[in-house]
Amino acid sequence: MTQQYSITLLPGDGIGPEIITVAVDVLNSIGKKFDLEFKFTEALMGGAAIDATGDPLPAETLDICKKSDAVLFAAIGGYKWDNLPREKRPETGLLGLRAGLGLFANLRPATILPQLIDASSLKREVVEGVDIMVVRELTGGIYFGKPKGIAETETGDRRGFNTMVYDESEVDRIAKVAFEIAQKRNNRLCSVDKANVLDVSQLWRDRVNLMAEKYSNVELSHLYVDNAAMQLIRAPKQFDTIVTGNLFGDILSDAAAMLTGSIGMLPSASLGAVAPGVYEPVHGSAPDIAGEDKANPLAMVLSAAMMLRYSLDQPEAASKIEAAVQTVLDQGFRTGDIMSEGMELLGCKAMGEKLLAALEA
Ligand code: NAD
Repeated sequence: MTQQYSITLLPGDGIGPEIITVAVDVLNSIGKKFDLEFKFTEALMGGAAIDATGDPLPAETLDICKKSDAVLFAAIGGYKWDNLPREKRPETGLLGLRAGLGLFANLRPATILPQLIDASSLKREVVEGVDIMVVRELTGGIYFGKPKGIAETETGDRRGFNTMVYDESEVDRIAKVAFEIAQKRNNRLCSVDKANVLDVSQLWRDRVNLMAEKYSNVELSHLYVDNAAMQLIRAPKQFDTIVTGNLFGDILSDAAAMLTGSIGMLPSASLGAVAPGVYEPVHGSAPDIAGEDKANPLAMVLSAAMMLRYSLDQPEAASKIEAAVQTVLDQGFRTGDIMSEGMELLGCKAMGEKLLAALEA
């Protein structure tokens, strides 16, 4: 029986519409192979939504997202909207989407593709085979904790302060997501904290240990964040799935992603407890190349593969898309951002066509 899914498309701005078109074509093609039917509904977000409605995240868009099984989001932002007040800026729409869907878990894979290994700034032997998933808590911790602010002290000195705070329930829900992801990968989870110094981290560690009792097939380890940063650069292959709080995850996920060296290749996902997950490339709207058919659609396509794996429970279809990405790279096709000597330069559309051919083969 055909499995049906409703997917909200948020093309956004800049290269967004170009790359999301490729992802839709890829999903339709994979759907035929695996008996899946995608019902796509497009909605406005970011600068495009500001132009049409004055609001970067119209209520209608959030409603459409809530009713769908998953959301594919391309990118937002651009020069045109840079000088608007904060509440009217495209980025505010993105924060609203995360809050509106309760997306507390951010998943950032860092996978080294053998074809692009020389794009990494680290030595080939250090990064070859790296396949890490960073699970970052997205809605708590020091970025949201109160009290926060800048105040004057008794001596007239100004003091800036923020509060790193996690409730048990917040740690539990992100830990649960991370253990379940580790189970879909290689059953290894490393929790990163600063429990030697921070009380909030001690609570984090205690709760992660407690959660581990429910996932006896997952091997759990703990690292302090300073050591984790060192180990990521020294020997990244030791990691499978990493779970950490908002601040540490912000930094470590960027460091892990850059092991791969190419922003046009990096997908991501944000998940909530029940709401549909949002799948998006790590890169922005690349206004400098928008409308020129130069964008690399592969991060967007790999985001669609993540959607199949983590929200729609279709891991085989996801693997098939990931394999097609490898095939086009093996065939020597490259967009400008990942171009190297001896390879064939393609535009966004042509890369999409090569992907479809690889899926058909
Ligand atoms: P960016 O990621 O858009 O671009 C950085 C550089 O990488 C540019 O030279 C761009 O051409 C290139 N690049 C990015 N993605 C590419 C792709 N798929 N193919 C080929 N080249 C690619 O970051 P930026 O320039 O700092 O920001 C541009 C706009 O995007 C800003 O308005 C920013 O606020 C927004 N932004 C949005 C998101 C998002 O939607 N999640 C994330 C980051 C930045």
